[in-house]
Amino acid sequence: MKIIRGATTIVKDTVEEIKAAVSEMMQAVFAKNVLLKEQVCGFLFSLTTDIHTYHPAKAARECGYDFAPLFACTEPEIAGQLPLCIRVMVFTELPAGQAVQHVYLKGARALRTDISEIFNIALDGPAGSGKSTIAKALAKDYNILYLDTGAMYRACGLKALRLGIAPTDAEAVEKMLPNLDVKVEYVDGSQRTILDGEDVSLAIRENAVSMAASHISAHSSVRVKMVELQREIAARMSCVLDGRDIGTVVLPNAKYKFFITADSKVRAQRRYDELLSRGQLVDFDKLHAEIVQRDKQDSERKTAPLKAADDAVIVDTSALTIEQVIAKIKSVIQSQI
Ligand code: C5P
Repeated sequence: MKIIRGATTIVKDTVEEIKAAVSEMMQAVFAKNVLLKEQVCGFLFSLTTDIHTYHPAKAARECGYDFAPLFACTEPEIAGQLPLCIRVMVFTELPAGQAVQHVYLKGARALRTDISEIFNIALDGPAGSGKSTIAKALAKDYNILYLDTGAMYRACGLKALRLGIAPTDAEAVEKMLPNLDVKVEYVDGSQRTILDGEDVSLAIRENAVSMAASHISAHSSVRVKMVELQREIAARMSCVLDGRDIGTVVLPNAKYKFFITADSKVRAQRRYDELLSRGQLVDFDKLHAEIVQRDKQDSERKTAPLKAADDAVIVDTSALTIEQVIAKIKSVIQSQI
């Protein structure tokens, strides 16, 4: 049994602050230790006696940490102790060789100098390779964020389509950029893509937007803007990012890199099924041709083409189930910790 310690502080004793602090601390504990749910045997939360509004253990349960026994207690009062402090001990079954990484955030950093480290998983590959399904599963298992970078380029493409701008028209696209506001938000852990203040998460999935995104993402002016946003998010918190250039351009120093690929027919079939499940009926041969064309465009463009980073692990998913792919990726991650 190995115990991971986490500690953080709040500024005001409010329910919102306690929930946010617990969520941040737990995310850091899991990310820093690349901890899987199944490796956790239990949690012990404690709080200083100056916190009254909400128990961190309750906040943790609400955040989804209900997959292992959860205990709660209050710290003894010690003169000069750090005020408004929340602590956790996570009891784990980590492999024998894996060192424990404790997490000290906010004011609790004063207690220890080893400050939590952020890690990113880069998943690149062509359309329909299964990246987003894999990314979502990894994010859930490691309790980190999933950043869908394709959604950001899709939002750019959607804006161009709405304004009647050809996504291939470099000059017109560049003029559009100062008024382009793409943001990502997270609601219950799932990404919402916001274009000029509007939630376009569904609209960007229309098939017409796929090709517009592929064209518009070839302009370096567009990429500079999106890459900046992606790096900013990845620097703030541990996340899985999927895209075309994550391991090569966006985060060349990502701790874990994978290139996910599959035969184009298999990928077209997956996209076809996905669109059908959303009620969008498309012609399979047309869809396949579009996927092949998008691959070509994405791989042959000058700026940040679709390609595997030299240090990426290549995973061909053509003949594998999604569960097999996820298991394979997780075993690579666990072996590289
Ligand atoms: O992954 P998805 O199919 O949603 O991406 C839509 C398009 O956005 C891709 O065809 C690609 O041209 C572009 N893209 C990109 N770089 C990324 C992610 C997506 O160029 N990091």
